[in-house]
Amino acid sequence: MTLDALLSALGPQVVQPGHAADRSYLTDWALREAVAPLAVLRPSSTREVAQALEICLAHEVPVVPQGGRTGMVGGAAPLADGVVICLDRMDATPEIDVAARTARVQAGVTLSALQRAAQAQGLMFPVDLGARNACQIGGMISTNVRGMRAFRDGAMRENVLGIEAVLPDGLVLNAMNGTFKNNMGYDLKQLFIGAEGTLGVVTGAVLQLRPVSPARVTALLRVRDLTDAQSVLEVLQSRLRGLSICEVMWPDYYHFACGFRGFDPLPVNGCADGLTLLIEAEGVEETPMRVALQAALELLFDKEWITDGAISQTSRQTEEFWALREAHEGIPQAFASVASFNVSLPVEGGDAAISGLIAALGEAFPPLRCLWFGHLGDMKLQLGVVNVSGSPIGAEDVIRIKDIVLSGVQEAGGSLVVEQGGETVDYVPRRIRSEAEHALNRSLRRVFDPKGIMNPGRLF
Ligand SMILES: Cc1cc2nc3c(=O)[nH]c(=O)nc-3n(C[C@H](O)[C@H](O)[C@H](O)COP(=O)(O)OP(=O)(O)OC[C@H]3O[C@@H](n4cnc5c(N)ncnc54)[C@H](O)[C@@H]3O)c2cc1C
Repeated sequence: MTLDALLSALGPQVVQPGHAADRSYLTDWALREAVAPLAVLRPSSTREVAQALEICLAHEVPVVPQGGRTGMVGGAAPLADGVVICLDRMDATPEIDVAARTARVQAGVTLSALQRAAQAQGLMFPVDLGARNACQIGGMISTNVRGMRAFRDGAMRENVLGIEAVLPDGLVLNAMNGTFKNNMGYDLKQLFIGAEGTLGVVTGAVLQLRPVSPARVTALLRVRDLTDAQSVLEVLQSRLRGLSICEVMWPDYYHFACGFRGFDPLPVNGCADGLTLLIEAEGVEETPMRVALQAALELLFDKEWITDGAISQTSRQTEEFWALREAHEGIPQAFASVASFNVSLPVEGGDAAISGLIAALGEAFPPLRCLWFGHLGDMKLQLGVVNVSGSPIGAEDVIRIKDIVLSGVQEAGGSLVVEQGGETVDYVPRRIRSEAEHALNRSLRRVFDPKGIMNPGRLF
């Protein structure tokens, strides 16, 4: 009945029965088991999104908004009794306002399409991540992506000026404000940032752009531990004004990345197998940046805060350094199963928390390995727990793994996002947040979505 109503309102160009839809809409980056929903909708306008939501609400059918399906915790995975609304046809060329340094985009525009449009005008969007060719602005907003420059330029939350979203009853919320300050009431757009599609469907945004830096220098550095890594970051931040990237890879991740890519630009040279940092500075002229970086590295060697390092000499070498950091795209193919966690840890105690988790998981499940990597500047890390024995991790073990990770992160005073849905969905936020915070979140969700049709079972 829902399918008939959707088809008669929106037509077959927008509505495909789930069983007939392209398989790519039924699974995601992590290659989770494909699930056929009632229908996959691919609207081409905000009006069509509104029509679709009105029908879904009338039939009380769950709705899963979908972007590029690169989210690592399965928030866009279809529900068998629900409808997927994928924004991939809402991808008109971004409108760049050079004077205001802003971009007006539809939610289905990919990050790389936005980057190209901005670059053509001498501008750039500062939030960047390895999934750039697939992830969409709507998905990036809904997951509040931090990206690699967040410690300098902020996450999505700091770079979204305005939003257009459709609420579950079809009401279009137009908050496409291009100004930096707007205190006319609550800043509603902020609620949609990081909401994982639980409050409505984001259909457009106004984003802040910055001038492009024409020159960059890139290096790979080896440090003993996280404490030394933080000291290195401090020195580089004070000596390299254009420092924009500081990524960290733990040994198991680094070795996986080298094996996956087939090269190792910074082999372990007899000393302890420490952490590897990818750093990059951006600026107007390359030569002074190289000189400043070289001087900073000499100081860091003298202080024994780095044990090895290589400054890229060619664009090919720069690509290789980056390819290691972005090798995590190969994790789902390389291992029979992976449990993914987005972990934020405090600087103080972060090292001990990570070593503790590696030890605890290794002891509880000997064939498991922890692939840790992420953004050093704000300690927003990714953990892939993989089974090196080649067999999938069983459902019960996944729950135990989540429990161990959650306890470790909680003890360290951090926070995390785990696989969306299933039995742990409510349990994780309950343990991380205070009861009052959790209750207020629930009440707020009901204000937007009293019937609970938006991405049920996700977030909390
Ligand atoms: C190779 C790779 C690198 C990554 N690097 C980083 C990184 O550096 N930093 C970081 O923070 N994250 C990173 N991620 C994860 C990141 O969260 C996602 O890549 C991205 O934000 C999700 O965008 P998407 O369009 O693929 O959204 P999807 O995966 O399709 O959806 C993600 C969530 O948003 C919701 N959603 C999607 N579109 C909309 C919409 N229009 N309206 C409302 N809700 C919507 C979905 O329901 C789901 O809950 C990486 C992922 C990959 C695969």
